[in-house]
Amino acid sequence: MKTYDVIIIGGGPAAIVTGITVRKFFKDKSVLMIKEEADGLVPCGIPYIFHLLGNDAAKNKMGPKPFIDLGGEVIISTATKVDKTKKEVTVKTGEQFGYNKLVFATGSLPTIPTFIPGYNMQNVFYVKKSYPYIHELASKIGNFKNIVVVGGGFIGAEVAEQLAAANTNVTLIESEPFCFSKAFSPELSLIATDALKNTKVNVMTSTLVKEIIGENNTVKKVLLANGNKIEADAVILSIGYKANTQLAKETGIELNRYGDIHVDNYGWSTEKDISAVGDCAQTFGFLTGRSDVIKLASTATAEARTLGHNIFGIRIKKCNAGTLGVFSTEINGLAMAAAGANEKNAGESGVNVVSAKFSSPDRHPGSLPGVSDLTVKLYASPVDGSILGGEAWGSKSVGEIINIISLAIQKSITVFELVSFQVGTHPLLTSSPVNNPIIRAAEDIVYKISYS
Ligand SMILES: Cc1cc2nc3c(=O)[nH]c(=O)nc-3n(C[C@H](O)[C@H](O)[C@H](O)COP(=O)(O)OP(=O)(O)OC[C@H]3O[C@@H](n4cnc5c(N)ncnc54)[C@H](O)[C@@H]3O)c2cc1C
Repeated sequence: MKTYDVIIIGGGPAAIVTGITVRKFFKDKSVLMIKEEADGLVPCGIPYIFHLLGNDAAKNKMGPKPFIDLGGEVIISTATKVDKTKKEVTVKTGEQFGYNKLVFATGSLPTIPTFIPGYNMQNVFYVKKSYPYIHELASKIGNFKNIVVVGGGFIGAEVAEQLAAANTNVTLIESEPFCFSKAFSPELSLIATDALKNTKVNVMTSTLVKEIIGENNTVKKVLLANGNKIEADAVILSIGYKANTQLAKETGIELNRYGDIHVDNYGWSTEKDISAVGDCAQTFGFLTGRSDVIKLASTATAEARTLGHNIFGIRIKKCNAGTLGVFSTEINGLAMAAAGANEKNAGESGVNVVSAKFSSPDRHPGSLPGVSDLTVKLYASPVDGSILGGEAWGSKSVGEIINIISLAIQKSITVFELVSFQVGTHPLLTSSPVNNPIIRAAEDIVYKISYS
């Protein structure tokens, strides 16, 4: 039996980044990745397979090549057993491997709504992060005239938007009054839902699915709680993801109440030399320090880097206090993003915030061709003015503006400091220096804190 310094179970973003980091910084350490499928995909790119990538899943492939190039080893098999006493992993073929350090990066799986009759019928699909599965779905999608997507989170909404752009009749059903309501504030959820309604997607909010009705076990209709029926040749259920932690549970590793692997700030589980990163691992809310559930590739890779650097002992102190959850998306040409607190999630945690927003053209002068509006909304502590959250919407620059806001939150920058934030500007690239929306929103909060 061969023994490795590190064995990583998984093949998604968390596994790949852990592998790359360990091999890059500890060149003398042997690392084996056990991944169950030979071909992987960019999970965040899945919705774009159905239209922008020409329904070609091969254009969205992702694999561990950068890890292999750094000297990492990969075997394609499913890890079926971990003996934490003997420090051995057994894979499906019966082969065994020894480890010094073990990393669970087993990810998450779509939630299966067994409470909806018909959930397992022919032509009911899930947005699985599996290349063979999505490849097959893409090959069938052209056969479907009417598709019902259930779930208006960012994944369901992006999939619905892309399918509709590819000329399929798509109905999206969301139980909440607005789509995106888990990621965005009520104000931005409304804007995002309107953006989706301006596409060809038939958006039904405050609507519950009661049953998937079929003939010969194949989808025909979706029955709603209000009694209405919608024609459907296929249904895509996108109602969330659950940590894939069955193997961890069987290994005797402690899980939290959400079923995520209980880890400390560096990714270590309660079992010696066993760690977990990515969607299978617990996250902690940055405001409360309490367990919460944030499953994002950006979070997964940040955890993987932290673990990778510190796997043989703490070298780089983890300095962020918890998981912010930085979301971004684009619907019908409108980019939208959020980081950290907003009035809804802060209120649920009993945290007071003061907010302000500012809109300006994303370039200057505003008469330039192709200019769009850019809005930044900041949320700060009314006590010390530190930035607790932010949202931005408008042009594509939103994708990086939210990352600036995320850094401000992580470094506890205050609105008072942002007043003298030094930025670079250019007519063709940014808002005008007079109207930088981050600075102007911060100034409005300074005014609210100081004078009202
Ligand atoms: C459609 C879609 C769009 C998304 N868009 C975004 C986005 O825009 N931005 C963002 O930040 N996040 C996005 N996400 C979330 C993001 O994809 C996940 O957070 C990310 O994939 C988590 O990475 P991971 O490596 O922890 O887990 P996963 O990607 O779930 O990978 C886990 C891997 O482990 C393998 N595995 C599991 N068990 C075993 C075993 N026993 N043996 C061997 N291998 C095993 C699986 O086959 C899989 O390859 C999106 C997700 C989806 C589905």
